[in-house]
Amino acid sequence: MVKKKYLLIFPPEAVEQPVTYRLISDYHLVINILKASVSPGRKGRLTLEIEGEEKNLSRAIAYLNSINVEIKPVIENIRWREEKCVHCTACVPGCPGQCFVVDRKTMRVSFHEEKCVGCKHCLSVCAYGAIEVVEENNAS
Ligand code: SF4
Ligand code: SF4
Repeated sequence: MVKKKYLLIFPPEAVEQPVTYRLISDYHLVINILKASVSPGRKGRLTLEIEGEEKNLSRAIAYLNSINVEIKPVIENIRWREEKCVHCTACVPGCPGQCFVVDRKTMRVSFHEEKCVGCKHCLSVCAYGAIEVVEENNAS
């Protein structure tokens, strides 16, 4: 099973097609609509979280390509908001990528984004809103 987020961009001729219905019924995918901007006769944009068997997802992507729906993976990056961080170090021990490093002299935390594996553990740990998810390809 895989779970992925995609931005779907519909050409005007595909906007009125029952695309999400087909993804569910024909490809046995679980669909969670995260964002939608669809108007008849105009380009539409739909951000979906899709869960299902890898082979069914591949078949669904082929179907979307066949009706000229553009598919872009939504990439999630973890962003550290230094200005909100109080350097409490709560995020340090549970991070599998060892992304948060404490300077033992100053006891200040720094973030090393390049080590992040995207597990999102730190989001629930930080009580100060200093860690957030930034999505690419999700503009509406
Ligand atoms: S998402 Fe996971 S790996 Fe990335 S900084 Fe947070 S805890 Fe560390
Ligand atoms: S848990 Fe939040 S406030 Fe505390 S050190 Fe980590 S990022 Fe900073």
